[in-house]
Amino acid sequence: MKFAFVGAERREAQPDLVAKCPDPDCGAVVFARCGEHNVWHWAHKGARNCGDHWGEPETPWHRGWKNEFPESWQEVHHKAADGERHVADVKTELGYIEFQHSPLTPDERRSREDFYPNLVWVVDGRRRAQDRAQFFASIDGRISDSPPIFPILPNKCALLRDWLVSGVPVYFDFGDSEPGDTWRFKEPLLWLLTPCRPNGKPYLVSVRKTWFLRVHNEGRPAEGLYTKKVERVVADYLSRQAAADSRRQAQAAADSRRQRRAAAADQPLKGWERYLPKKAKAAAADRSLADFDFERYLTNRQRRAQGRF
Ligand SMILES: [Zn+2]
Repeated sequence: MKFAFVGAERREAQPDLVAKCPDPDCGAVVFARCGEHNVWHWAHKGARNCGDHWGEPETPWHRGWKNEFPESWQEVHHKAADGERHVADVKTELGYIEFQHSPLTPDERRSREDFYPNLVWVVDGRRRAQDRAQFFASIDGRISDSPPIFPILPNKCALLRDWLVSGVPVYFDFGDSEPGDTWRFKEPLLWLLTPCRPNGKPYLVSVRKTWFLRVHNEGRPAEGLYTKKVERVVADYLSRQAAADSRRQAQAAADSRRQRRAAAADQPLKGWERYLPKKAKAAAADRSLADFDFERYLTNRQRRAQGRF
C-alpha cells in the first residue's frame, strides 16, 4: 500500500518509518519497505495483509497510474453492508478505477464489479510477452474514424478472452507504440473494450491516455456517453452495410434480368446470321457487274479475234 497513518497524517513509506494500517477495521502496525526492487510501500508484519490486493507489492505501472490522480482519491477504503472490505485504487467524483496488473479469477473480477458502482478497469497489457502481438492481431479492420472503432476477433487473444465477459468498461494499456505493432500510434493510447455489444459482437475503441486522465480527473460523465456513442456509431455502420448489401442484391438481380432479356432478344439474330453473308455476297456480285467495263471487254475480244485471223 502507498499510504498509512503516521500519527494522524496519511503518509507514503520512508525508510525506517512505522505507521498504522489505514483500514479502520485493522489498524495494525505496518512497516516501511523501501528497497531497490519494489516501489516503496507499507506492509503488514510477515505475510499478513488485510486489503484485497495488498498481498503483493505494487508494480511501478500500478503506482504510476495512481499518481496521476489526487492523493486523497488513492487507496480509498470501503466496507459493504455485509462486512466485505475493499480498497479502491482510485475513487473519482463519479466512480472507481481499478488498475489490474496481475490476472484475476472470474469470481474476483465479478465481485469487484458488483462492489464498486461505476467501476472502470485499466489493465496492464504489457505483463505477458505474447499479449501485445495477439491483441493487435485480433483487431479486424476499422469501421469508424471518429471515434476510432475496431471490430475484434477475441479468439485470437487470451487477454481479450479473459475480459470479454466484463460488464464494465475495460481499458487496455500497452503504453507507447512499438515497432512491431500492426497498428501504430503517435502517443500512448488506451484500448477500450466497451461493455456494449451492438450486434452481439465486441468492439474496441482507441482513446488517448491524456483524454482518459482528463475526463476522470475532471469528473466528467464520459463512460456512459462513450458507450452510447459507440453503440450508435456501430448501429449506423451496420445499417449502412445492410443498405449497401440490399442495393448490391437489387443491382445483381437487375443485371441478371437484363442479361436474360438480351439473351432472349439475341435468338432471331440466328436467322440474320444466315441472311447477312448472303446479302454481302449478292452486294459483291452487283458491284462486280457494275464495275465491269463492257467496252473494254469487246475491244479486247475483237483484238484477240483480229490477231487470230
Ligand atoms: Zn491492515
